[in-house]
Amino acid sequence: MFDYEFPLNINDLLYRARDLFSRKEVVTRFPGGVHRYTYGDLYRRVCRLAHALDRLGLKKGERVGSFAWNTHRHLELYYALPCTERVLHTVNIRIPHEHIVHTVNKARDRFLFVDEDLVPIIERVKERLETVEGYVVMAPPGKRLQTSLSPLYYYEDLLEDQGEDYSFPEFIDERTPALMCFTSATTGLPKGVEYTHRGVVLHTLAISLPDAANMSERNTLLLVVPMFHVLCWGYPFACTMTGAKQVLPGPQPTPADLARLIQDEKVTHTAGVPTVWLALLEEIESGKYDLSSLKEVLVGGSAPPRSLMEAYESHGIPMVHAYGMTEAYPVVLVSRLKSYLMDLPPEEQYRFRVKQGLLMPLLRAKVVGESGREVAHDGRELGELWLRGPWIVKGYYREEEKTRETFGDGWYHTGDVVTIDQEGYIQIADRTKDLIKSGGEWISSVELENAIMAHPAVKEAVVIAARHPKWDERPLACVALKEGETPQGKKEEIREMLARRFPSWWLPDDVVFVDEIPKTSVGKFDKKALRREFGDHYVRAREG
Ligand code: AMP
Repeated sequence: MFDYEFPLNINDLLYRARDLFSRKEVVTRFPGGVHRYTYGDLYRRVCRLAHALDRLGLKKGERVGSFAWNTHRHLELYYALPCTERVLHTVNIRIPHEHIVHTVNKARDRFLFVDEDLVPIIERVKERLETVEGYVVMAPPGKRLQTSLSPLYYYEDLLEDQGEDYSFPEFIDERTPALMCFTSATTGLPKGVEYTHRGVVLHTLAISLPDAANMSERNTLLLVVPMFHVLCWGYPFACTMTGAKQVLPGPQPTPADLARLIQDEKVTHTAGVPTVWLALLEEIESGKYDLSSLKEVLVGGSAPPRSLMEAYESHGIPMVHAYGMTEAYPVVLVSRLKSYLMDLPPEEQYRFRVKQGLLMPLLRAKVVGESGREVAHDGRELGELWLRGPWIVKGYYREEEKTRETFGDGWYHTGDVVTIDQEGYIQIADRTKDLIKSGGEWISSVELENAIMAHPAVKEAVVIAARHPKWDERPLACVALKEGETPQGKKEEIREMLARRFPSWWLPDDVVFVDEIPKTSVGKFDKKALRREFGDHYVRAREG
């Protein structure tokens, strides 16, 4: 045993579902129909997969990448790897190819488990994957694909002849890494973080509390947040532990798919980024679906506009605002009204509810102003949010310098500029990270700027996050051309040039030409000034 009390293991979340909730369902939507099985089936398939991982020769501590949507197979990976002391690396399927290559190589993934429709992306980068020894395609039983991936295995074949029981280690040291994922960096390539058994278990318990995600066996959850995005905010673990039915939306879900799932599976709770809820609103308002089962929607990842919260509430669906990040498994703040604030007039209540919220139990936070001192709790003074706690990571994976910069003094410096009020509600006012958050996914402004500045006619370029009615933020390129150059045709040229390197959703929707990029007193590009001038560019364009 260990020199501390009983270790916290992810295995025990799974065993609970096996022992107490073996009849409860896990439902996955696929384009051809719905796949349905129970937690009992999940356990047996996790055992089969664990045997298959042994047969692939994977040793303790080794990493396997997943490149997948939210499906029951992905959920099986969430348990089979950690519960056998290996590590699941959930690769983000939306990032540029160069970033996919970097994250897989950095994590040293030995195998990649790939959804069938995502195989073409991996085919394009496979020559550059240095550590991958084999690819496992997650397709329905018997289905065969034409692919250049090699050596190739089929998930269902691997599981086929395996035993339905497995002797998992009796205890795993709770500090053992269980999963990992990567977050975008302001400059350069994404940075990895590791999640331990201990961190996952404590985070699971904490988010299950009534004042957090309010989990219960009686709830049915629709897991909209991608499983490659910070552990799907912890829901795959919290559902399994509590025995809540979980509904996984599968490949490329549309807003109509989500509405249908809510209706057909009688979903009570769901969580996701504002963009998703904005899109779902149209389905709700179409009146085509009976969504009366839905009791609550958690919204986070970006700040929801108040109008969105109001719109949902006008349909009787309360929205709860939450905040977190990759470095924090991810949940840090949840904004629920304290009982005595519920007596306030609705207008006053919204003042609190639109804030990012109250700190989760067991975490510690400081809001540090420019003077280096903590700010007053007056809801006005600005400072950077610093965090520490059992599910705040200690640093970036194999990145000493970036770790020193961000975690050097034992606190995680979030880069989010916030206020904290007398009641303890924290609100984000700005962020120091040079990133654009579009539909819940990051775009690096610095990478786009560098690419634009390679255009022979461009003197200076800055890419800012401009507010967008649908995507929350979209990149807007502000470009100063060299002497004698004219904007004629340049916007198209710039976009074409960027399209060769970046996914289409990274491309600035518009380019504005300025005589000169404003500079700060120390001669840096003054993004704040440009944000003041052009921050509403897309909103204004929409309003005509
Ligand atoms: P990620 O690591 O991709 O989850 O991104 C984390 C970052 O997203 C945070 O540091 C914030 O800048 C931003 N963020 C997350 N939740 C919210 C929210 N509710 N409101 C505003 N920004 C948020």
